[in-house]
Amino acid sequence: MTIYQNLIAGEWTGADAVENINPSDTKEVVGLYASGSAADTKNAIAAAKAAFPAWSRSGIWERHVILKKAGDEIMARKDELGALLAREEGKTLPEAIGETIRASQIFEFFAGEALRLAGEVVPSVRPNIGVEITREPLGVIGIITPWNFPIAIPAWKIAPALCYGNTIVFKPAELVPGCSWAIVDILHRAGLPKGVLNLVMGKGSIVGQTMLDSPDLAGITFTGSVGTGKRVAVSSIEHNRKIQLEMGGKNPMVILDDADLSVAVEAAANSAFFSTGQRCTASSRLIVTEGIHDRFVAAMTEKLKTLNVDHALKTGTHIGPVVDERQLKTDTDYIEIGKKEGAKLAFGGELIARDTPGFYLQPTLFTEATNQMRISREEIFGPVASVIRVKDYEEALAVANDTPFGLSSGIATTSLKHATHFKRNAEAGMVMVNLPTAGVDFHVPFGGRKGSSYGSREQGKYAAEFFTTVKTAYTLA
Ligand code: NAD
Repeated sequence: MTIYQNLIAGEWTGADAVENINPSDTKEVVGLYASGSAADTKNAIAAAKAAFPAWSRSGIWERHVILKKAGDEIMARKDELGALLAREEGKTLPEAIGETIRASQIFEFFAGEALRLAGEVVPSVRPNIGVEITREPLGVIGIITPWNFPIAIPAWKIAPALCYGNTIVFKPAELVPGCSWAIVDILHRAGLPKGVLNLVMGKGSIVGQTMLDSPDLAGITFTGSVGTGKRVAVSSIEHNRKIQLEMGGKNPMVILDDADLSVAVEAAANSAFFSTGQRCTASSRLIVTEGIHDRFVAAMTEKLKTLNVDHALKTGTHIGPVVDERQLKTDTDYIEIGKKEGAKLAFGGELIARDTPGFYLQPTLFTEATNQMRISREEIFGPVASVIRVKDYEEALAVANDTPFGLSSGIATTSLKHATHFKRNAEAGMVMVNLPTAGVDFHVPFGGRKGSSYGSREQGKYAAEFFTTVKTAYTLA
């Protein structure tokens, strides 16, 4: 079998490889992917450092053309790359193709942004002096990504990094190297100079840790768990390094008495269970006021009966498998914890056998949960959600905000008053009204607050904040 290698200083390299396994069919090896060493990582950092002076001064047309070419190729290959994504991560084929299209759109967006780079010219408070404010690239950026969005998250970090003139050392998650390799191959063939984008696949404890320990990374943009995010933060202080951290969530979705029941059920089912609940923006706390509670639980249960859990590539699958054995164990452990804590198992909770050996788990709904239970406070990251009954809107808002996290927060209501109040008072980076907590646009800011995020926002124009540093220049006329 071919080994998909790392790209260091413009050369494909690496003989040590690990198998990329399909969670829908663990007999299927998606491919063999290189597993980089500390030395590979150091070489990649050195290559990115050497490439920075020229790339940081490259023309905006060159950057535009390369980013546009990448966006166009990803779109042209959306079905093939979507299938690769579904095979390595386990989300359904339509979800995977949708994510691939989004990755293409992100490259197209930043291809456009490259042509719109601008600064400000302002008068000085002193006569005869001009002041220019410009944004310059930061330097070598370390990009560390999680497994749950194998193509979109790498795209939304790589595209702005290149657009603003940075060079990159990119370390994807061990479980899903395939889509990352494909993006890097596309950008390499699109004409990126040697060393501008380096790919080092491999272990977090080796490749990732070598990146954290390096004094040569000017910034690290990280998406992943809270624990690893904290390591990134602590190591970065020592190197006076800029960081952007997107981490966990325990996103609430409030359902009020006046909600349109079908809108609420569709939004809640999507939020909690689509993409197997493995989205940082997934909702795992459904906070329901008492007037609609029983009707909502009954309708949700009916809805869950209609959702097929099966092979990600099979037509008609709504929910694919859990990503791997370790995550499946976390999910089933939390289901046991929920039962022990006294929540009522209203639906699911069981492993399912399918035609192929995979990590199949029923969508699982608890009722009679409280916000103090561990299943309500800790991120599970699987198809497991709990219904928390509350008296009224005021209690719902208080419970929604009573969490260490603050990524996304949703409400289902027909009341303009409550929707408006919720938008203003939800302690989250993103608020959704009558929509799932997950599912965001690519051209507007993405990110959270409290324990979910640290640093400036990703995506859209706001990405410039992280990937550039501001210079103020004064000139005597
Ligand atoms: P993880 O923290 O285990 O891994 C993330 C990345 O960090 C991987 O590439 C991993 O190899 C690397 N890593 C591990 N140890 C490292 C170390 N010592 N030094 C440097 N890098 C290291 O997270 P995961 O399990 O891949 O992803 C799931 C988590 O990601 C969930 O908590 C989820 O909420 C979060 N997530 C957040 C967002 C968001 O935007 N907020 C989006 C997607 C996922």
